[in-house]
Amino acid sequence: RASVKKITTGSQALDGLLGGGIETRTMTELFGEFGSGKTQICHQVSVNVQLPSEKGGLSGKALYIDTEGTFRTERIKAMASALGLDPKEVLQNIMSIRAINTDHQIAIVEELQDIISKDNTIKLVVVDSITSHFRAEYSGRENLAVRQQKLNRHLHQLVRLAEIYDLAVIVTNQVMARPDMFYGDPTVAVGGHTLYHVPGIRVQIKKSRGNRRIARMVDAPHLPEGEVVFSITNTGIRD
Ligand code: ATP
Ligand code: MG
Repeated sequence: RASVKKITTGSQALDGLLGGGIETRTMTELFGEFGSGKTQICHQVSVNVQLPSEKGGLSGKALYIDTEGTFRTERIKAMASALGLDPKEVLQNIMSIRAINTDHQIAIVEELQDIISKDNTIKLVVVDSITSHFRAEYSGRENLAVRQQKLNRHLHQLVRLAEIYDLAVIVTNQVMARPDMFYGDPTVAVGGHTLYHVPGIRVQIKKSRGNRRIARMVDAPHLPEGEVVFSITNTGIRD
């Protein structure tokens, strides 16, 4: 694991939970209820990956697959400015792609192989969210097997990209706070664990008081379980 690199989240506490930051060669899943901060973290890491290594980045670019239309250029610019970076330049180094349905989302990831093999400065791929289109298109018990098969294949493709090209992959997954809402949905077990079997790191994000959030490491293969507190501020993710 010596060659794994890390990208800072902007919070030392959250970085600590992650063993130093978001790792390359790994898929990191952020799951949690609406408004918990998954998209905010994705925005922040897309900015931070561009920082030089001494500041916690990889001097790299980001690819942002946006399935919910929640990518915000203004938020990227604010986060960039707060770090003393040129907002326009930072925005240019984030390729955002709007995925309109599952087939489109899958096709984009299939094309990434080609894009990334030609541009080795891409060090982060975000899929925000990985599950929304799948849930909408394959609702109902009779469709669950097909949905799981398709989603698993898609996730494995992302994991392979991370491993082959030494980049970080972050996917988000909305899980409602009330676990009883999830009876009948086998991608989400009571308590919020997702049940697809893909290697990677899973972090649950929970709301706390005001702008405070709690991050919890779940089932990490090489990291201790634990919880930390971080904040979502107007300048981005902070302690
Ligand atoms: P969903 O599951 O609905 O996609 P999410 O986990 O992606 O939710 P985010 O959109 O990342 O949630 O978080 C939204 C929260 O981030 C807001 O409720 C607010 O608390 C905080 N936030 C967003 N923008 C700012 C800002 N400019 N300044 C301060 N806090 C902000
Ligand atoms: Mg979101």
